[in-house]
Amino acid sequence: MIIDGKKIAKEITDELKEKISKLDKKPNLSVILVGNNPASLIYIKMKKKACAKVGIDFDLYHFKEDEKEDVILDKIDNLNSDAKVSGILVQMPLPKHINSSKAIQRLDPTKDVDGFHPINVGKLLIGDDSAVVSCTPLGVKTLLQKSNIEVESKHVVIVGRSNIVGKPLAALLMQKKPNCNATVTVAHSYSKGLKDITRSADILIAAIGKPNFITQDMVKENTVVIDVGINYVLQKAEKTKIIGDVDFENVSKIASHITPVPKGVGPMTVAMLVQNTYTCFL
Ligand code: NAP
Repeated sequence: MIIDGKKIAKEITDELKEKISKLDKKPNLSVILVGNNPASLIYIKMKKKACAKVGIDFDLYHFKEDEKEDVILDKIDNLNSDAKVSGILVQMPLPKHINSSKAIQRLDPTKDVDGFHPINVGKLLIGDDSAVVSCTPLGVKTLLQKSNIEVESKHVVIVGRSNIVGKPLAALLMQKKPNCNATVTVAHSYSKGLKDITRSADILIAAIGKPNFITQDMVKENTVVIDVGINYVLQKAEKTKIIGDVDFENVSKIASHITPVPKGVGPMTVAMLVQNTYTCFL
């Protein structure tokens, strides 16, 4: 069965739209962009569109590629203390001369809609419900929940241990809480016998960044397969196509459930950003 992330994301944003329409004041998402990274420009366009759809005000602060670090940090301070701003997002990657950890740590954690601030990461780890949980892990958890896929007592294998996907997702699914309680294995490029690890999964989550990395022989029959990967591959006539980390054509023949790329995890990430902005507003 193919999990329709786009449909589930729309159900979530429709509900949020309804709730936001009843508010006296609109939530505001303020985004800081430095430079003109083409992928960042696409992501920002998507985020702006998603906010407009649900009635969240969206402000973009677009700085030139060589803007000084201090100017960016001052802007963050300024947004932190602006009462009209509910959420702040610093679009990654930042140019090399700006320290991204410094920028993230400068954010007011209660406005950190990406959930990247160490306070939010720490709260997530200890199971504090006031944590702002980063959008992709929260999107994956919500996608599983809305698809009626139980994670409790299941063996979830996550391939990838980044700070934005693999690690927070592992922390989230292993919590001693409803819709969590999974046994989680996190694999990475130093893992030995990867195929044996992935074949032992009830739920396999790929967050690697390598097109078609998870092949059919790495997946046991009736596994739930969630593909977080977004890879731009060059096609004929200079056209690019987006594909995931999973060989969808062949793995979909044996998986019990599988997310496509696009229209799988991607729309859920954007829906969770909107949801986090609403939650930070409350
Ligand atoms: P990342 O920071 O590059 O991390 C990739 C992870 O994959 C690392 O932990 C790496 O291991 C592991 N890895 C690489 N090669 C491997 C191999 N041969 N065997 C086992 N593990 C291997 O990437 P990310 O930011 O987590 O993103 C992962 C993918 O998800 C990318 O395609 C990205 O575009 C996509 N993404 C999608 C969304 C969405 O909304 N759908 C959101 C965020 C990211 P090491 O740690 O050992 O290097």
